[in-house]
Amino acid sequence: MTGHDKVFIGGHWRPAVGTDAIDVVNPADEQVIGTVPAGSAADVDAAVDAARSALPGWASTAPSRRAELLMALSGELALRQDRMASLITAEVGTPIGFSRRVQAGLPVTMTQLHAELAADFTFEQRAGNSLVLLEPVGVVGAITPWNYPLYQVVCKVVPALAAGCTVVLKPAELTPLSARLFTECIAAAGIPEGVFNLVTGTGTEAGEALVRHPGVDMVSFTGSTAVGKHIGSVAGAAVKRVALELGGKSANVILPGADLAQAVRANVADVVRNAGQSCNALTRTLVHADDYEEAVRIAVAEIAAFPPGDPADPDCRLGPVASRTQQEKVRDHIRRGLAEGARLVAGGPEVPDGCDKGYYVRPTVFADVTAGMSVAREEIFGPVLSFMRYEDEEDALRMANDSDYGLAGSVWAADEKQAITFARSMACGQVTVNGGAYNPLAPFGGYKQSGVGRELGEHGLMEFLQTKSLQL
Ligand code: NAD
Repeated sequence: MTGHDKVFIGGHWRPAVGTDAIDVVNPADEQVIGTVPAGSAADVDAAVDAARSALPGWASTAPSRRAELLMALSGELALRQDRMASLITAEVGTPIGFSRRVQAGLPVTMTQLHAELAADFTFEQRAGNSLVLLEPVGVVGAITPWNYPLYQVVCKVVPALAAGCTVVLKPAELTPLSARLFTECIAAAGIPEGVFNLVTGTGTEAGEALVRHPGVDMVSFTGSTAVGKHIGSVAGAAVKRVALELGGKSANVILPGADLAQAVRANVADVVRNAGQSCNALTRTLVHADDYEEAVRIAVAEIAAFPPGDPADPDCRLGPVASRTQQEKVRDHIRRGLAEGARLVAGGPEVPDGCDKGYYVRPTVFADVTAGMSVAREEIFGPVLSFMRYEDEEDALRMANDSDYGLAGSVWAADEKQAITFARSMACGQVTVNGGAYNPLAPFGGYKQSGVGRELGEHGLMEFLQTKSLQL
């Protein structure tokens, strides 16, 4: 176990003013693997001061130089990729193979791609007799969740720094150790003092202090819709810019004539990915009445290939969920699904056999889910898939869009044109067409209660810029 008592402010690790500590627990065996300080409002004050002091120098650094330093950051992350993967597996319970490729590997590529994007980006535009300047928003308070802890940090910090903003990061309570290793990379890359600052701590103390701080110009938040609404109201009242990446309840629509087996298998793999703890997980499967029972049969057979196991084992494809709270929440959702009359065809609320230690849940499939049921409406954040039956395409579209959320979606059809037409009508920020590959430069973010603003690519960079026009 590693004990830490410092926060990273102004380019140095210094003792936290807050004296409380946060224990980091491995969800696979419930052992404490480290402690970090629970930073206080005084720590946030010091971090924001450091970020404000560093702002003029960083904002006036040439974009090409900022991009160079971010390239160096990508290199430092690559050097520590194996350590990062093991750490995230220990913090989150993500299977080690997926941790290496995605949790630790993808952020290396993303950092590099966004550094390249910023190097080529035009920070000045002409509009008639005006010169339009794209200037950094200022000091950014970044608040991140635990499910993809490094990825979420990189989605905010890299474009913010590329834009010329300085940052104070408050990572999730469950995953501060990966945020510390990221900070080590920032320092090793030679990013100037005060440009990036880390305060570990709780949401209610350090997070709240950061959102309310008058020295913070923008809050970039990823997390639950409930906390996002609160942060939006506090930031809005102070006329701060705010970006919110929130929850989801995304639909996978399989149109008649699509490759049913491929569509269902991909859906099962998607919903067990990271033990279902993905904001864009496709948790509602909409199938035409004629194909419905066959689709359910394929899902039941497929999910049996994901027995819960030790995430440190290279063959593991489904680990525990990240915390006891999450385990109880998922089991409770499954119980509610049963009570509301959904047909349980795989899994269930019991702890999996032989998993007395660790926060394991059974991968679960419900059939005959209808629109009013909680399993059709609420984000579960666990490996739970709900099958719903539709009668025709119009019905399918109505059901897909019948959600308070609008983060992501997916559509499968025999004809790509038909799939694209359907995707255009879906009320969500990102749609996967016939299993299209993930693109780290595609704008990501929500319609409706899934959020405000976009991350990634040029749209993600623009979030951290404000415009000034000079009339010439
Ligand atoms: P959460 O909302 O509980 O916490 C997120 C972060 O907010 C944490 O760092 C927490 O400490 C902080 N926080 C909590 N209360 C706060 C307050 N009052 N003021 C300031 N900060 C506060 O969410 P979580 O449980 O960590 O993450 C899971 C949620 O995140 C899910 O709903 C998921 O869908 C969502 N998520 C969304 C995206 C996306 O891109 N849309 C990505 C990943 C996760």
